[in-house]
Amino acid sequence: MDCVFCEIIKGNIPSTKVYEDDFVVAFNDLNPQTPVHVLIVPKKHIASANDLVEEDAELVGRVFLAAKKIARQLGLESGYRIINNCGKDAGQTVMHLHFHMLGGKTLGEKII
Ligand code: AMP
Ligand code: ZN
Repeated sequence: MDCVFCEIIKGNIPSTKVYEDDFVVAFNDLNPQTPVHVLIVPKKHIASANDLVEEDAELVGRVFLAAKKIARQLGLESGYRIINNCGKDAGQTVMHLHFHMLGGKTLGEKII
């Protein structure tokens, strides 16, 4: 399997990690769209939100609990936005479930 985020999780591709726990890892997006643009990625390889199964329910909660910690860590007390692109029509380019966490400025209505 050729998955760039699995390689980042294994440490085979470098990234700027901002957070890690047993379930998720978070690192800076290579092509940031906002002053803070972090990708929150479950360690388990799941291709997209459409590929989630019942047993992943807790994992998705873990993503949002990680976001809360990252927000505190990165000083996003005035807010942030979390976006998931699912599938071709949404422009998903990396087929390993991930959540864009955007902040560091007042966000417009349309980002990504
Ligand atoms: P999406 O279009 O929702 O699939 O988002 C994929 C995101 O992954 C894009 O914002 C890319 O900039 C980002 N990305 C791709 N490769 C890397 C990488 N090696 N390190 C960090 N971010 C990456
Ligand atoms: Zn993967």
